[in-house]
Amino acid sequence: MNKDDYIIEDGFDPQSRFDCLNHIEPEFWKKKKLEEMSTEEWELLCDGCGKCCLNKLEIKGKIRFTDTRCRFLDNQTCLCRIYSERFKKVPDCRDIDLAAVREKPRWLPKTCAYWLLDNGFDLPEWHPLKTGRAASVHEAGMSLKNRQTVSETGIQDYESHIVYWEDL
Ligand code: SF4
Ligand code: SF4
Repeated sequence: MNKDDYIIEDGFDPQSRFDCLNHIEPEFWKKKKLEEMSTEEWELLCDGCGKCCLNKLEIKGKIRFTDTRCRFLDNQTCLCRIYSERFKKVPDCRDIDLAAVREKPRWLPKTCAYWLLDNGFDLPEWHPLKTGRAASVHEAGMSLKNRQTVSETGIQDYESHIVYWEDL
């Protein structure tokens, strides 16, 4: 990791995303389809699990997740270290838009809020929008925090890193 690549704003607090939401319609995710949401609502849906930043393989029409993570993912905070420049620095980094959510085969984890809502499910009880706390995704064990993953740097044989975690 080049020090210059580490551009998470100093002191960025993930909790700041969920504080002061008085101007947001309560439980908006139950009242609107994904395509009707504002940009702010859309962004709030992301639970910060980091699991979409695992490397994946497509094998016989199915997506298999590996325990290798993008080299820019901070495995403690589950934040992208280069968020504002991610598409420039990582050509295969994907924007999470409607097309990505609906892509087949599914490549977002089955706990992903976008995928859940688009498929008729509610947000899980541990989602920060329900708890009001960004840390609740980690406390529920649903993020990559404290999970055994390795940086992709130097990995050659991705197939030997395939994992079958229940929440993928
Ligand atoms: S998998 Fe979904 S909820 Fe988790 S970090 Fe990625 S976009 Fe956000
Ligand atoms: S560059 Fe993309 S894939 Fe890598 S950590 Fe950032 S958001 Fe995730």
